[in-house]
Amino acid sequence: MNILVINCGSSSLKYQLIDTDSKSVLAKGLCERIGIEGSKLTHEAAGKDEFVVENPMPDHQVAVDMVMKALLDPKYGVLKDISEISAVGHRVLHGSKYYSDPVIVNEDVKKVIRDCYDLGPLHNPANLTGIIACEAAMPGIPHVAVFDTAFHQTMPEKAFLYAIPYEYYEKYNIRRYGFHGTSHSYVAKRTLEISGLDPNNSKIIVAHLGNGASITAVQNGKCVDTSMGLTPLEGLIMGTRSGDIDAGVLQYIAHKENKDIDELLNLLNKKSGMLGVSGVSSDFRDVKKAEEEGNHRAKVANEAFVYRVAKYIGAYVAAMNGVDAIAFTAGVGENDGIVRGQVCEYLGYLGIKIDEEVNKVRGKEALITTPDSKVKVYVVPTNEELSIAQQTLALIRK
Ligand code: ADP
Repeated sequence: MNILVINCGSSSLKYQLIDTDSKSVLAKGLCERIGIEGSKLTHEAAGKDEFVVENPMPDHQVAVDMVMKALLDPKYGVLKDISEISAVGHRVLHGSKYYSDPVIVNEDVKKVIRDCYDLGPLHNPANLTGIIACEAAMPGIPHVAVFDTAFHQTMPEKAFLYAIPYEYYEKYNIRRYGFHGTSHSYVAKRTLEISGLDPNNSKIIVAHLGNGASITAVQNGKCVDTSMGLTPLEGLIMGTRSGDIDAGVLQYIAHKENKDIDELLNLLNKKSGMLGVSGVSSDFRDVKKAEEEGNHRAKVANEAFVYRVAKYIGAYVAAMNGVDAIAFTAGVGENDGIVRGQVCEYLGYLGIKIDEEVNKVRGKEALITTPDSKVKVYVVPTNEELSIAQQTLALIRK
């Protein structure tokens, strides 16, 4: 069955057409600079040349129409007719407390996505625009919303509640939601499969370390805690996000630099993290290179990143009273054996022993611990698009 997976940002649209029977990507692409001058579609079908169209894309509707054209193109496309697409799976950032599973989009679902604009101001509006555009281009087939927050809805209240006056939770639903849920869910399931652990008696920690980074504790297949919060700002040090910080810092900078709350949040989201500390870049490869060249700030940024990851893993071992397996995923987790090794050095007390040779692996599934290691550590490449396609298929088959 062919499922089209759509991931809309405010000025971008990523897509993959996935054959769920063979789990293969038939075609994928990216629309960039939607609504801005210089819009461009880059499309690639399996076994065919890359196809680039530079055409104005004033809105997401035009972008979706261009994607359809590319998929149907006699030379670069993969479809003869639009009816060969059975369903569309849409990545949606925030479903608040309302969705713990994917849902078929209807007017009520659209209303919830809209009601969550405050919680995901950059993503939810773009996600809904993408859904509406796809419904217009592909009427009569199911459109499914897969929420980044859904997997984390099993967290207990003690884990999701902030210690602020309870009325803010009651009035505004202010609580931890967590993100990267599709990735955490996919990697946790895959870790269960390859480790042979009993799904009903298992403790897994998934470290999704990319430009955005988060950690999740998964007990018996269900999320019990995660490091991102009401927004993706909390938790680990990320490419440009600070992660955990004393809220008092905000007041201090506000007074010293005469900044308002929006400017401060922009600072914490876009100018902090690896970029802010190193002053070099948000990209881990650049920061590593700068460290090798003797840059002190780059060195301390890398050290602080690793240290925070190790602290969270320690916290989640305590939360679950143990851990059977740890899985590293996303850009850094999948590719950077040095970071994985450094994190695991902090975890020697758990009896973790890394196999240095295997730990050189990049972007491939691997068990990177020695046979006598007390906890198994894996590299498990994430595949959010395949997971969205599979969840979409499971829902429409129900
Ligand atoms: P996101 O999806 O959040 O944008 P990714 O999961 O793609 O992020 O991860 C991007 C990060 O992964 C970048 O900071 C990049 O430096 C890092 N990365 C990618 N490949 C490597 C590598 N070979 N070694 C170290 N870091 C890498």
